[in-house]
Amino acid sequence: MQLLKDRIRKDGKVKEGNVLKVDSFLNHQMDVKLFREIGKEFKRRFEGEEINKILTIEASGIGIACIVAEVFDVPVVFAKKTQTKNIAGDVYTTKVESFTHGRVYDIIVAKEFLGKGDKVLLIDDFMANGKALEGLAQLVEDSGAELVGAGIVIEKGFQPGGDILRKRTHLESLAIVESMDEKTGEIVFRDDE
Ligand code: 5GP
Repeated sequence: MQLLKDRIRKDGKVKEGNVLKVDSFLNHQMDVKLFREIGKEFKRRFEGEEINKILTIEASGIGIACIVAEVFDVPVVFAKKTQTKNIAGDVYTTKVESFTHGRVYDIIVAKEFLGKGDKVLLIDDFMANGKALEGLAQLVEDSGAELVGAGIVIEKGFQPGGDILRKRTHLESLAIVESMDEKTGEIVFRDDE
């Protein structure tokens, strides 16, 4: 998606440890107009698929997922992160290893909001090692819902998540970063000349 790639080049900052900061339009301050274009692009890429629910993970996926859900005209559910040891009753839960924080946490979704008959599109801001998305896919599977696909705004193509998820479902990433240079700040996308 050219609009997004141009914006990443203009405002993205390459940080130590393979982290791309996009706080000025995606992860902190949010450009809702851009989110709407992102929503329309996902709608186009998943045209013809039956989708009746969007699932994301807190916190940074929520803003984007809300706008995407509005374009798809379906409800959005976000998996909650929790450190509670004894998770009570009526939830689906799985463990996720965090790329940005380097620790393992539990994610939960109430059984009330995900289950048989749901046709789910996963949405998230970033894909690195794919652990967050694998966790969401697991919750969908456990609930008996159908996983239709996953939409990612920025995939870091030099990390393994994309390849793992493509084996499991229909994955669409709007910008795939092939490489980035901490020193020069240069960002190369997968389909660049
Ligand atoms: P994964 O589970 O794929 O390794 O990591 C996914 C999560 O880590 C995303 O939801 C995102 O919050 C965070 N993340 C991974 N890499 C980056 C990055 O380069 N920049 C930012 N801002 N967040 C990232």
